Amino acid sequence: MSRVPVPLYTAEQIRNRVAELAISLDGRFPAGATPHFVAVLSGSFMFLADLVRAMPRPVTIDFVRMQSYGSGSTTSGTPRLLHGPSSDLRDRHIVIVEDIVDTGLTLQTLRQNLIAARPRSLDTVTLLDKPARRRTDVPVDLVGFRIPNRFVVGYGLDHNEEHRHLPYLAVIGA
Ligand code: 5GP
Repeated sequence: MSRVPVPLYTAEQIRNRVAELAISLDGRFPAGATPHFVAVLSGSFMFLADLVRAMPRPVTIDFVRMQSYGSGSTTSGTPRLLHGPSSDLRDRHIVIVEDIVDTGLTLQTLRQNLIAARPRSLDTVTLLDKPARRRTDVPVDLVGFRIPNRFVVGYGLDHNEEHRHLPYLAVIGA
């Protein structure tokens, strides 16, 4: 697999799309409501930071950590919630902020955990969606970019902890 990242979406394309997502997301909540964003570590940290700054209303945030892929680029085992959330989700408008939905199994596990906390509503926004690899029909409300089955890095996403810092999205192994 080539380790050289090949650009996929520029920083400007990402910025424009994140602004659109923020407006769409804002429209899902009643006036005066303060949605609570639950971001999945570590890949979504950059997306979360840009998304909250693009939101036209105040939001609160929390983080969860799911079992990761480890050092490879293929999925392994059943996902588990390893850490968080550390806030009370009951009666809140929750927004799961994901970097990428691939098989959908991670999101499905997370949703089950958060639903158990009895939120008022539960939406999911993901920066990237790889529908070709889906193994469950978990609902995804808002998608930044729908992409083919490629391994993506940059803008928070890593491969063996590399490339997270890139301000753009790129493909490796192309
Ligand atoms: P899923 O459970 O939907 O298969 O996997 C979701 C998680 O797998 C993502 O949150 C991410 O950590 C990882 N993942 C899936 N595809 C990619 C990819 O193309 N690039 C990177 N960096 N991570 C990925």
